[in-house]
Amino acid sequence: MLITNKYYRQNLKNKKRIVIKVGSSSLVHPETGETDLLKLEQLVRVLCDLRNQGKEVVLVSSGAIGVGRKALGFEKRPEDIAQKQACASVGQGILMMIYQKLFNEYSQVASQILMTKHTIVREKSYQNARNTFNELLKLGVIPIVNENDTVSTDEIEIGDNDTLSAVVAAITNADLLVLLSDIDGLYTDDPSLNKDALFIECVTAIDDSLYGIAKGAGSQYGTGGMKTKIDAARIANDAGCDMIIANGRDFHIIDELIKGQEKGTLFLAHKSDTFNILDYIEPEIIINGGKEELHDYRS
Ligand code: GLU
Repeated sequence: MLITNKYYRQNLKNKKRIVIKVGSSSLVHPETGETDLLKLEQLVRVLCDLRNQGKEVVLVSSGAIGVGRKALGFEKRPEDIAQKQACASVGQGILMMIYQKLFNEYSQVASQILMTKHTIVREKSYQNARNTFNELLKLGVIPIVNENDTVSTDEIEIGDNDTLSAVVAAITNADLLVLLSDIDGLYTDDPSLNKDALFIECVTAIDDSLYGIAKGAGSQYGTGGMKTKIDAARIANDAGCDMIIANGRDFHIIDELIKGQEKGTLFLAHKSDTFNILDYIEPEIIINGGKEELHDYRS
């Protein structure tokens, strides 16, 4: 039997637990880097409507560092870690204030969850996070997740919100992850350089050839490129969750995707029975008391 992209798209109507990841570039005005309040308002309205349709929703929102750097008057995203963390500390608060205000207009309760790699690699924290998410979703809350950028240093950082959102999809047993960014999806080549580049509507298996065509560098606002999106798809798909990469230019696309419209690139789930989130965490060297320690989390 030939099952087409159209069939899989129609299937998206039945998704119940949905994680939406919004990149920094989708939340700010490109000309000024200032928060795009109208877009945030649109995002919140679409998410509240998903709740009204009986869906469970988790939002993974970037933007802490971007919003904070504007509030603190930095011209560019700072490189210095302490400055970046100061920006995140200011920006996360501002971002949550805006989200709370907007969700409140629709009487939707929202909450904040900030994670680091420790939340994933320590079994107890992983279970705790899972219980908290489940409880919040049971209570009808929309959890808003970000990395805890104010304390994350190299050794405890997840690094980008594409990966974070896939981890969240795995923790929550979500059935759909939507990554919204400033790109339409995956092409066979850079469409601005190669007019023969083809748009990929549906990916059924993630292999080296896919990584070969994922050379995107990302935008100046976030941290993820196409590679991190494919890494995210690997985690989400192995955990049993479909994933879509789509353009967050207009957040109505969330609703269109869930109604089965053929937009963005769909990565189909192929649940692995031996799925273990730790297998997706890169080994790392941690300096402890002046000594180098290798931490390899893979089973
Ligand atoms: N956690 C970062 C922030 O909120 C964003 C990371 C990312 O976009 O990948 O600014």
